[in-house]
Amino acid sequence: MRPEQMRRHADYEAASGNKLIAACLRDAARDVCPHGLVRAYCDEHRRPVPVKRRSALSCVVRGCGTMPHVGVHPGTGLVVMLILTGAAAGWKGGLVGCLIGAGIMAAGMVPIYLVGAYSRARLSDRLANAPTTPGMREEEG
Ligand SMILES: [Zn+2]
Repeated sequence: MRPEQMRRHADYEAASGNKLIAACLRDAARDVCPHGLVRAYCDEHRRPVPVKRRSALSCVVRGCGTMPHVGVHPGTGLVVMLILTGAAAGWKGGLVGCLIGAGIMAAGMVPIYLVGAYSRARLSDRLANAPTTPGMREEEG
């Protein structure tokens, strides 16, 4: 990934209110390798740093919770609320109506939520494995 793409991504996250993610992305964008890429996103320059391979499922599961660099999943409350809204919309149909309403809402929202969880986990892992930049040093364990 090129630094300007990374900064665009950071601007987008900042506009969405994800200040912590935006700050991490801006930090990462400053660390450019000799290929002109963001070092954490360059296959060549990431290689010397041991990167733990994680399965996609593991990323999705971990991404639903709280992660270093990216914090809590911002969509958790929203997804729960929308599923309850779906259940409420089906109220007149009794229990079956509630389940159908909740199911329709879940079918629409949960995939987006899980894709978000996956990309958050990947981002968190990349930032955790990125060579140090001045802004990230205090986050190392
Ligand atoms: Zn490189």
